[in-house]
Amino acid sequence: MNEFELIARFFTRPTREVQGVGDDCALIAAGDRQIAITSDMLLAGRHFFPDVDPAALGHKALAVNLSDLAAAGASPRCFLLALALPSADAQWLGAFRDGLFRLADEHGCELIGGDTTRTPAQGPLTLCITALGDVPAGQAHTRAGARPGDELWVSGTLGDAALALAQAGGEVRLEETALRQCRARLERPTPRVALGIALRGIASACMDVSDGLIGDAAHIASRSGVVLQIDWDAVPRSAALSLQPAERQMRCALAGGDDYELLFAAPASRHADVLAAAQVAGVTVTAIGRVLAGAPAVHVMDGSGARVGEHLRAFDHFA
Ligand code: ADP
Ligand code: MG
Repeated sequence: MNEFELIARFFTRPTREVQGVGDDCALIAAGDRQIAITSDMLLAGRHFFPDVDPAALGHKALAVNLSDLAAAGASPRCFLLALALPSADAQWLGAFRDGLFRLADEHGCELIGGDTTRTPAQGPLTLCITALGDVPAGQAHTRAGARPGDELWVSGTLGDAALALAQAGGEVRLEETALRQCRARLERPTPRVALGIALRGIASACMDVSDGLIGDAAHIASRSGVVLQIDWDAVPRSAALSLQPAERQMRCALAGGDDYELLFAAPASRHADVLAAAQVAGVTVTAIGRVLAGAPAVHVMDGSGARVGEHLRAFDHFA
C-alpha cells in the first residue's frame, strides 16, 4: 500500500465542503470567498537533518504550506503552528522563530494559534503547520480541470533541491556557487504565491511539485482524467543541474522532491495570458508539454519522440 492508496482507502469520504481530500488545499465556502486550508508536517530525520539551521527550518516549515496555498491560487491569511520539541532551547527557538516570521511577514500571514508539547525520549522534533488562505469563490485552482488541448507549464527550474541532497549524500561534488544555489533551493524554497494568484481564471489545473514532477503530474492526470505528455528537452533546469550527467539530470528534475514550483495546465489560447501572469508575478514559466485525451498517464518524451524516465517514480513515504 503506497501513501496515496493509504489515504484513499482509509481517509477519503465524500464531503459537504467545496473540495476535500485529493487537492493541495481543501476549500470551504465562506460567503463570496472560499477558504483554502492545508497542513504539512516535517519530522527531524525524515524531512530535514536534525542539525539543520533552525532559521532555514522555520522558513521551510511555512514555505511548504504557502506553496500548497499558491497551488490553489489562494492569498495567505494565517497559520497554526504545532510543535513537538525534545527540549526548550532558547537559541534554537529564537532562530527558528526569526526564519518563520520573516517569511510570514513577506506574505502578511499571521500566526494565530497552535500547540506545543515535548517529545518522549528519542522522539524526533516534529513540526506541523496548518495554513489558511482565501480566494474569490469559484476561482481556486484544483488538480481536476486539465483538458485535452491544454498546454502544460512549470515555474522556475526543477531538480536543484534533489541535487543538493545528492551532494549531502556524497554522490556528487558541486562547486561552491552551484552548491550554494542548490542548498538554498533545498533549505529555503520560495513558495510561488504571486504566480498562483496571477493564474486565477487562466489555469485549468494547478498543483505544486513537491514529490517529483512525474509522480506529481500523475495526480493531475488521474484527477483530470487525461494524459500529460512532457517534452524532456523543455523541462527547465538550472545551470548547475545542466552540467550533470544526463541520467542524474533526469532523476533530479523528474523524480527529485522539494522543488515547490507550480505545475499547471492552461488552454493553448491563453498562452500569452500565462506569460503575462508570470511577468506580473516575477517568475519564469516554461511550457513543457501538452494535455491529451486518454486513460490517465504521464509520458515523458525526448527530442526523437522516444519515451524516457519510465524507471523513475515519485517519492512515496510508504512505497
Ligand atoms: P501535498 O503534497 O500537496 O501537501 P499530500 O500529497 O500530502 O499533498 O496529500 C494528498 C492529499 O491527501 C491532500 O488532499 C491531503 O489533504 C490529503 N491527505 C493527506 N493525508 C491525509 C489524511 N491522513 N487524512 C485525510 N486526508 C489526507
Ligand atoms: Mg502540494
